[in-house]
Amino acid sequence: MPRLHLSPPHLDGDEQRLVAEAFASNWIAPLGPQVDAFEREMAAYTGATHAAALSSGTAALHLALRLLGTRPGDEVWCSSFTFAASANPICYEQAVPVFIDSEAASWNLDPALLAQALDDAARRGRLPRAVIVVHLYGQCADLDPMLAACARHGVALIEDAAEAVGSLYKGRHAGTMGVLGLQSFNGNKIMTTSGGGMLLSADAGLIATARFLATQARDPAPHYQHSQVGFNYRLSNVLAAIGRGQLARIEAKVAARRRINAMYQQALGGLPGLSFMPEERFGDARSRANRWLTCVLIDPALAGTDRERVRLALEAADIEARPLWKPLHLQPVFAGCRAIGGAVSAGLFERGLCLPSGSGMTEGDVERVVGVVRGCWKG
Ligand SMILES: *Cc1c(COP(=O)(O)O)cnc(C)c1O
Repeated sequence: MPRLHLSPPHLDGDEQRLVAEAFASNWIAPLGPQVDAFEREMAAYTGATHAAALSSGTAALHLALRLLGTRPGDEVWCSSFTFAASANPICYEQAVPVFIDSEAASWNLDPALLAQALDDAARRGRLPRAVIVVHLYGQCADLDPMLAACARHGVALIEDAAEAVGSLYKGRHAGTMGVLGLQSFNGNKIMTTSGGGMLLSADAGLIATARFLATQARDPAPHYQHSQVGFNYRLSNVLAAIGRGQLARIEAKVAARRRINAMYQQALGGLPGLSFMPEERFGDARSRANRWLTCVLIDPALAGTDRERVRLALEAADIEARPLWKPLHLQPVFAGCRAIGGAVSAGLFERGLCLPSGSGMTEGDVERVVGVVRGCWKG
């Protein structure tokens, strides 16, 4: 049987025809009509007024920090429970990351902890330049109270929606509620351009400056003139064509991932000591997690097995499963950084496992995973 990957690319739309269009037009370059159309279509889908297509989600976050005027020594606060790419750009700007723990309800940044920490920081006279809030595994964080706390202190909120294309918070798209938001189209995400990202904002000026910085900060002049250091961060026209094909199918991809999650819940829900990542709707039926990855927690005391034994059993059957993200306050690269709380995300990491969740999975594929997982409970 072929190896089952965690979240492989799923190209089931018009991608090839659109790539052929890019070839036929000879726009084999960064920028071009496919990029313009991809930006328009993503802005229309999400309701973000403005969007800039970029070479990666990491590049989008780096530009977001630049646009907000982040300077060496500034603090930037960030969810601890996330992938390292959520915090690496803080270091690119020689700013100081501070990691904040999760709440149990959404597994994402704890709004009460953030509000308290901002009040304390205001009293000390040292507020952060920005707060990066991550929507992990496609589950939205509880943005309303965090937006209110940040507004009270004049702190910018950046949404890391890299894993949350198609996720809704009270009916609004992930990435459209902070001053800036970013998406990722890396090969393992819910939609892919092989590699790519998008910066979203309601502020036309910020997105215009992002485009300027992403194309080597060329001043308007007939010759090459520069008065700032720029980057080469724009998306290729060929890759934007793939993105357009993927975006046209995003609702089907969300539906497929949600269906796979429901099948797992149906088949594994009764196992002692096994529980699923909750879908937190914050009291609003219009909220929706895209269920990018199906995540489970395994309590060894009740299960008689643990996440590592389950992972190894899956690996032996050629099925890829991964522990949940190791919190950044526990990562060697960020040793010595300040952390606010940390026990919640550490506990999730200890017990958590991501199961294969690609939107191209068949029912038979899910049954194959279920069979191995159930086997770990049999003794
Ligand atoms: C994938 C990811 C990123 C980075 O996106 P790239 O496009 O791979 O640079 C950032 N944050 C989170 C939470 C991610 O999962």
